[in-house]
Amino acid sequence: MFEVVGNMHMHTPYSDGEKYHKEIATDAIRAGLDFIIVTDHNVWVHGVEGYYETDEGRVLLLTGEEVHHTRRNPQASHFLAYGAEKELACYAPNPQGLIDATRAAGGYGFLAHPFELALPLIPEGSDLGWHDWDIDGFTGLEIWNYMSSFKSEVARVLSKMRIRQMTYRKLRLLRRVLHPERLIIGPEPETLALWDELLSQGKRIAAIGNSDAHGTPFGFGPIRREIYPYEFLFRAVNTHLILRDALNGDVAHDKALILAAIGQGNAFVGYDMAYPTRGFRFSGQSQGKGIMGDEIKLDAGATLQVLAPAKANIRMIRYGEVVAEAKGELNLTHIPIEPGAYRVECLIMYEGMERGWIYSNPIYLV
Ligand SMILES: [Zn+2]
Ligand SMILES: [Zn+2]
Repeated sequence: MFEVVGNMHMHTPYSDGEKYHKEIATDAIRAGLDFIIVTDHNVWVHGVEGYYETDEGRVLLLTGEEVHHTRRNPQASHFLAYGAEKELACYAPNPQGLIDATRAAGGYGFLAHPFELALPLIPEGSDLGWHDWDIDGFTGLEIWNYMSSFKSEVARVLSKMRIRQMTYRKLRLLRRVLHPERLIIGPEPETLALWDELLSQGKRIAAIGNSDAHGTPFGFGPIRREIYPYEFLFRAVNTHLILRDALNGDVAHDKALILAAIGQGNAFVGYDMAYPTRGFRFSGQSQGKGIMGDEIKLDAGATLQVLAPAKANIRMIRYGEVVAEAKGELNLTHIPIEPGAYRVECLIMYEGMERGWIYSNPIYLV
């Protein structure tokens, strides 16, 4: 098994981001990522995929697309498509059609930032969660989107501060001085509850976690600087894939391995800023062996094992219920007696409080 760390949601000037692919790749190399997938709004940019190298290393850059219906109001229900190798924006007005077209093209589709809170008073602060629920057949959920989490947390803070009395100027000041890492606690509980609900319906729902980096400059008086730079965000919430084979530097070979792991959910979401999450493992053993995203047989000898890269509060969850827990440990073992989707969450102390750290994809016991 080979672990690679990547970020799968970011923007360039092809939509509303600041930096182009080569510069973003340089930032990703600095942050220690193995791969990135650039997902501009409603445009699939081709011709830029490949390995980008600097003196510090290399990163594999791939392109997907973040699709939404631009005439929808608000412009909610953002969809992340990977591996479709074609433009999908024309399908945006019909969410089910978009999902079907992505699958038909051999791609994988994820609901981006499914739940978020609206920011009061500013038009671009609308709730951009997923609103079109009469759908089926998508690959999974973006369970943790760093910038969307930040926006929701700011909304929570502002709602406590009697936002109606605040001016837009004060809001801008607040945005500038806030330290996002102090606000970020974990994925939205509503998103995790949605995930558990979909899993309890017997669906296979993969999870990814991303930055949604735009590198947007922020002006305040004479000061103009990049808030939440790409590199900062690439050190925060990432998707860690467990590959069946090692990357070998051949773009087609490596891309196929990465896309297969994304589609299968052989992955966990790690908040690497709190503490590096490389090395986390969740595996199951019965007659066969399996990792996150796999199916294994529930027999009398089935066991599930968790190994965390640092001491953490570890809990194993089946359909929203904690079935096993270990506090301040590196390991957790559980003998499952019921079929179902078992997933793992690890919480860790960071910046003075316990925060979400690792969210595994489920192992499906059948
Ligand atoms: Zn979005
Ligand atoms: Zn985005």
